[in-house]
Amino acid sequence: MSDGPTYGFDTLQIHAGARPDPATGARQVPIYQTTAYVFRDADHAAALFNLQEVGYIYSRLTNPTVAALQERVATLEGGVGAVCCSSGHAAQIMALFPLMGPGRNIVASTRLYGGSVTQLSHTIKRFGWSATFVDFDDLDAVKAAIDDNTRAVFCESIANPGGYITDLDAIAAIADGAGIPLIVDNTSASPYLCRPIDHGATLVVHSMTKYLTGNGTVTGGVVVDSGKFDWSASDKFPSLSAPEPAYHGLKFHETFGNLAFTFHGIAIGLRDLGMTLNPQAAHYTLMGIETLSLRMEKHVENAEKVAKWLEADPRVDGVTYAGLKSSPYYDRVAKICPKGAGALFTVAIAGGYDACVKFVNGLEIFSHVANLGDTRSLVIHSASTTHRQLTAQQQAASGAAPNMVRISIGTEDADDLIADLDQALTKATGR
Ligand SMILES: *Cc1c(COP(=O)(O)O)cnc(C)c1O
Repeated sequence: MSDGPTYGFDTLQIHAGARPDPATGARQVPIYQTTAYVFRDADHAAALFNLQEVGYIYSRLTNPTVAALQERVATLEGGVGAVCCSSGHAAQIMALFPLMGPGRNIVASTRLYGGSVTQLSHTIKRFGWSATFVDFDDLDAVKAAIDDNTRAVFCESIANPGGYITDLDAIAAIADGAGIPLIVDNTSASPYLCRPIDHGATLVVHSMTKYLTGNGTVTGGVVVDSGKFDWSASDKFPSLSAPEPAYHGLKFHETFGNLAFTFHGIAIGLRDLGMTLNPQAAHYTLMGIETLSLRMEKHVENAEKVAKWLEADPRVDGVTYAGLKSSPYYDRVAKICPKGAGALFTVAIAGGYDACVKFVNGLEIFSHVANLGDTRSLVIHSASTTHRQLTAQQQAASGAAPNMVRISIGTEDADDLIADLDQALTKATGR
């Protein structure tokens, strides 16, 4: 398939990055289960190692199955290139790695996936990096938090778990004004519902573990580069703009232009950090992406029905779904994710902690798991699991108060999901 911006999403999710296999004509992308690739001769090998010629050397860096997936996700997100990684969290480190250094910081939204809060508030300190968390609805606070050492702004498009929607255009304008990139975690929305690059994002990260694969079989991540950031406009990003000693003084931005970030991600990031996606996992994710739009349509349709039903039920104290008119983020749906607010939200159950525990124990179709974005409907009671170690105040701030259950709506029959929730609410509340 020739590259053309004229193709629609449904066509690209099946064809982007995939060509009939040059050796066999195989129509489906083969799983290239190989560690290494035979060099034509010694000169060819030398040219590959010098980055003078693009080709396959070793599967820690590049693999044809993974490359097909990289091209597909980059195309769906409207980026110029992508680097796949072994998990969503690996993708976040890979996105930050070329930008950061000891003493540098990022400005991040308070409304992030709990695992990201932990990664950015504790673990990155081991590298001498730090994060300042601010409310991204308060644009002045975001601006004020950026200082001379800030190297990125980080948020989610639709935030896990609360379904909060970020005004990406407004945040991108602030990052742009400060000359730093905006990184958007687009996991909960998927490129079908939201394309952050269209709203000014420089980089997009995903946990492919969730909607992109879509069926709970893979752990994977990806960083997509918009190709739009000028890494040489200041001296803030020397990894991309200054001579790289490990490649005989090569300057990534000067040499690779708008593909600088992607080439750096492969030639330095994967080479030295080694957070590589394996070809078998890439195959599963390619299969999943073929049906992304079909699944997301059904996820959203089901989520709207279930959220409306829950909101009207007297045993429920509140539902955070942005697709409900009652949500403070309802107006942002049309602007940021016009095809729907996703399928992830939290619900507050009358009766608090004990009722929530009975509720998750009582469900039959829904599974109580730490995952989301599966064809199967899933729940988690964060206060008794993932957010167990937090204080009551921290739990409330992160949308994981003791009376809250996170729900990820699958693609089953909505009526069956409602019946299951109904009987579990009866077990939980005695009503
Ligand atoms: C799950 C998740 C991650 C982390 O991804 P893993 O694949 O589990 O490492 C990051 N961000 C969001 C929004 C997630 O839901």
